[in-house]
Amino acid sequence: MTSVSGMLRRNPIVPTVEFEKDGIFHGHLKLPYSRDDSAWGSIMIPITVIKNGEGPTALLTGGNHGDEYEGPVALFNLSHSLDLDEVSGRIIIVPAMNYPAFRSNRRTSPIDNGNLNRTFPGRPDGTVTEKIADFFQRTLLPMADYVLDIHSGGKTLDFIPFAATHLLEDKDQQARCKAAMEAFSAPYSMLLLEIDAVGMYDTAAEEMGKVFVSTELGGGGSTTAKSVGIAKRGVRNLLIHAGIVEGVEERCESVLLDMPGEDCYITSGSTGLIEYSVDLGGEVVKGDLIARVHDYERTGRAPIEYRAFRDGVLAGRHYPGTIQMGDVVAVVAARV
Ligand SMILES: [Zn+2]
Repeated sequence: MTSVSGMLRRNPIVPTVEFEKDGIFHGHLKLPYSRDDSAWGSIMIPITVIKNGEGPTALLTGGNHGDEYEGPVALFNLSHSLDLDEVSGRIIIVPAMNYPAFRSNRRTSPIDNGNLNRTFPGRPDGTVTEKIADFFQRTLLPMADYVLDIHSGGKTLDFIPFAATHLLEDKDQQARCKAAMEAFSAPYSMLLLEIDAVGMYDTAAEEMGKVFVSTELGGGGSTTAKSVGIAKRGVRNLLIHAGIVEGVEERCESVLLDMPGEDCYITSGSTGLIEYSVDLGGEVVKGDLIARVHDYERTGRAPIEYRAFRDGVLAGRHYPGTIQMGDVVAVVAARV
């Protein structure tokens, strides 16, 4: 919880860019961080602001988890490839939100182990990760009309490429989020049920009434040409949809999926070597074998089998080749 005094306290992050002036500004979110190797040092989180006249604001982010790379690749690209005269309104680009995590190829921060996407609303007087969350919560999110946060599976998951939106109480807002998700035009579009929605950036943006889209565009701790292509096209499509960039959306056919309940998730009850019998995007029916986990401490043991609880498409899987008890084996999404 953020205390009342915390709400009033100033965040120590100082942006070196302009948010209200017309122009293209490349700079940093400068977060003071005193430490052994730099007594008066700062964490310098790259940011670009592009503003041209009046119009909506899009806040585009990647690296909320530091080991997910489609967002950073697409957004570092975007930061140098837009001309000011293509833009009507404002685009705020932060390619690597949890910058210490990103620089360490980790999901969470090496400084405080903070998982940024479980830290919202954050604290201005908290840990480094809490300070980053607070700056987004109280400074950047309020500026935005459209919020796109690009995720992937990271080192321990792999996903079919999908854009996602949540079921919201405000049905008008939900419709605007769904339209933006459709504009992103990933090969799959997902109505997502979060396992654990508390502290998420998604929830913070949605509670402020923003048009929010997130993605899962692959995983395994790197990118592919295909997944990066989907991210770049999706970002541009969303900006066109928002009316910020001129052009024609380049839409592809997108399969609409739903994750209606807990039975979409299969959790491992064993530790060992995992053997998949279905690949991502494969169709399964209830009871189909999805994976077997072999005891890797001894030979001569039959593996434990994991079967689909429901009909659907294999949307996510564990990565890399060994798994621990409690890890997600598979995510089976339903066709809508
Ligand atoms: Zn993520």
